[in-house]
Amino acid sequence: MIRRMPTIGRFAPSPSGPLHFGSLVAALGSWLCARADGGMWRVRIEDLDPPREPAGMDRRILDQLAALGLAGDGEPLYQSARHEAYADALARLAADGAAYPCTCSRSDLEAFAGIHPRTCVRAPAPGLPTAWRLRVPAGVVIGFDDALQGPQRQNVAAAVGDFVLRRADGFWSYQLAVVVDDTWQGVTEVVRGADLLDSTPRQILLQRALGLPTPRYLHLPLATDGAGRKLAKSAGDRPLDAAPLASLRAALAFLGQREAAAMRAATPAALLAAARERFHRASLPCTAARVAPRDFA
Ligand code: GLU
Repeated sequence: MIRRMPTIGRFAPSPSGPLHFGSLVAALGSWLCARADGGMWRVRIEDLDPPREPAGMDRRILDQLAALGLAGDGEPLYQSARHEAYADALARLAADGAAYPCTCSRSDLEAFAGIHPRTCVRAPAPGLPTAWRLRVPAGVVIGFDDALQGPQRQNVAAAVGDFVLRRADGFWSYQLAVVVDDTWQGVTEVVRGADLLDSTPRQILLQRALGLPTPRYLHLPLATDGAGRKLAKSAGDRPLDAAPLASLRAALAFLGQREAAAMRAATPAALLAAARERFHRASLPCTAARVAPRDFA
C-alpha cells in the first residue's frame, strides 16, 4: 500500500493590515485543502518589513482568525524570529557562488527595466548599503503544475533576473524567507492567492539551489472589487470582524463550496466542520471573480 505523506498546509499573512475578504479566501482555501485531507494547517506571521507593520497587527490578525474558527496547529511562527535561519541559507548560497553582494540602487537599475544586468552598475565600496542577490542561471525555464491553474512556465532570468535575497536596508526578502520557512514548517502544499503565481518559479529555483523539497502549489483566484481591482489591505478594504459567519459563507461561496455555504450553523466552528466534510477541490474556481461589497462588509 502506498501511503501519501500527510498534508501540511499553511496561511502566511503579512501583518501590514487586518485580514480582508481576499485574505480570508486564502486562509479558508488553505484550511479546507489541508483539513479535508485530514492534514495539519499552520499559521506563519510574515513580519519581515517592520516599517509597514502597524504595532499589534499580528495579534489583530490572530484574533480575527480565532473569531473565524480558523485555528492553526501549534504556535504561529514569526519570521522576525528567524533571522539565523535566513542568514544560514544566504551563507550557503554565497559559499556556493549562487548569491552575490550588490550595491546598485533602484535608480541604477532603471535603465535595465529593473532587471539586474548581472554585472553590478555600481562598484561595491565600503559604507554603501549592500543587498544580496541570487545569481539566476540564464535560459533556465522553471515549470510546475499548479493544482488549480494548470501547467506554468517561467524563464526566471528573463522575467525578473537576479532577485534580492536580503535587502540593502538589512531586511530579508519574502522569497528567501518563504522558502526557508515552508520547509521548516514541513509544508507539503502551498495554497494562496494567484497574485503570487509568478513568485513560485523564483521559490522553486531557490529550493533547488538550497537542496530543499518543493511542495505542491495551488493558486486560488483573486477576489476583486466592483471596479475589478484586487482587494488589498492597502486599499483600506473593510475588515471582517463584524460578521464572521457571514464572511465565512461568502468566502465558501467564492470558493465554489455552495452546499457548505448554505449549511445551517450556529458558530463559525460548526460551519467549518460542515464545510470540511463537503469540500470538493474540483469545485474550486480558477478565474478571478468580483465580489459584491456586502460579501466583505
Ligand atoms: N505574506 C504574503 C501575503 O500576506 C503571503 C505569502 C505566501 O502565502 O506565500 O500576501
